[in-house]
Amino acid sequence: MIVLDRIADLREAIVNFKSQGKTIGFVPTMGSLHKGHLSLMKRAVQENDLLVTSIFVNPKQFGPAEDFDKYPRDHERDLDLCRQEEVDLVFLAREDEFYPENYLTYVRTEGITEGLCGRTRPGHFQGVTTVLTKFFNLVEPNRAYFGRKDAQQLIVVRKMVEDLNFPIEIIACETEREEDGLARSSRNIYLSQDERKDASLIYRSLLEAREKIEAGDYDINSIRKLMEEIIERGPSNKIDYIEFVDSSNLERLGRVELGRTLIALAVNTGKTHLIDNIFI
Ligand code: AMP
Repeated sequence: MIVLDRIADLREAIVNFKSQGKTIGFVPTMGSLHKGHLSLMKRAVQENDLLVTSIFVNPKQFGPAEDFDKYPRDHERDLDLCRQEEVDLVFLAREDEFYPENYLTYVRTEGITEGLCGRTRPGHFQGVTTVLTKFFNLVEPNRAYFGRKDAQQLIVVRKMVEDLNFPIEIIACETEREEDGLARSSRNIYLSQDERKDASLIYRSLLEAREKIEAGDYDINSIRKLMEEIIERGPSNKIDYIEFVDSSNLERLGRVELGRTLIALAVNTGKTHLIDNIFI
């Protein structure tokens, strides 16, 4: 496995891969790898000649009051996991080279970045689209892999790739979960034992919403009420949003529509911002 931290070295390696006619799968991450990341890697290994992964806690996607400084970082453990998953090249971007002091350029997707997490995290998606544009230009992947857990991110990335004509196929991968259903996330390690129990109510609320819909109730207000009741059983849970949106463009729906509805929610469990969603 090749490990690089300089842009010039990455470029040279990619030119070399391309000259051999190899297809490249790309899995961008912020590190602190868990089974969610690994499932993206497994899929990318199957579908491409080579797998490139980036590990970079991207400062531009964190707000000033967010957890950039305390975001978990463990390169040695991450690199071991990458080796196990047969990653061919890991790029550990260096903040000082990636965003030098005179850095001035940003990529912004409008509209779909403003609702859901965009409301409480202004600038977050601009940070995501900017870092991914840089990575896509450097890695020149044939396919890039993203988790459905970050549903809004996935839709924003698809739109950016379409609008800016990146010749890259965006592949969506299913959400990996803990035994009790909590979506795996690097942020789960922030949770105390009690908070961890409360956090499991998030997915429970999504499952009960699905059951209610399967029983024939398509009324968003009554489903949201049920979900609120379930989540609020956890004393440390504070709901940020529960939204019923069109899964293709994130527009709000008036009623549940089968095959089209994404129920997306964000909850602050203690100080930890957790997101999850389910497609109906
Ligand atoms: P992150 O390191 O949090 O930026 O995540 C890197 C990639 O892993 C993103 O495409 C995420 O959507 C994906 N990911 C994170 N958690 C999960 C999960 N539980 N299941 C599947 N994919 C995930």
